[in-house]
Amino acid sequence: MRLSEISKAKKVVLLILLSNLFILSLKIYLFLMTLSLVVLAYLTDTFIDIMNDSIAFIGLRKAMVPADKDHPYGHGKYEALSRLIISIFVFVSVIEISSQSIERLIIGKGFIFVDFDFLTF
Ligand SMILES: [Zn+2]
Repeated sequence: MRLSEISKAKKVVLLILLSNLFILSLKIYLFLMTLSLVVLAYLTDTFIDIMNDSIAFIGLRKAMVPADKDHPYGHGKYEALSRLIISIFVFVSVIEISSQSIERLIIGKGFIFVDFDFLTF
């Protein structure tokens, strides 16, 4: 990616990040109104999106830093690194959601069970 393209991508990612923050606040409001576990799962999805948006934004910002003594070829590889981190997140999510769905299909659990034990100390 050229610098002008990175700069454009960075602006779009920032717009998406801000939109997702707005959507997250609406979903938190909806969750507080309903206390529904489905809404909580829905909210978690947006939270993960925000994490990915932030990683993408940081990666693109780092990639724009001009070449210096330690990195004579520039910092373009930060863009690839952030892409790798996001793919790992997406991969882990896919495995987790698929295995839960398969388990639910086989065992036949019709509801989502969220264990809140981790909240107690
Ligand atoms: Zn450097």
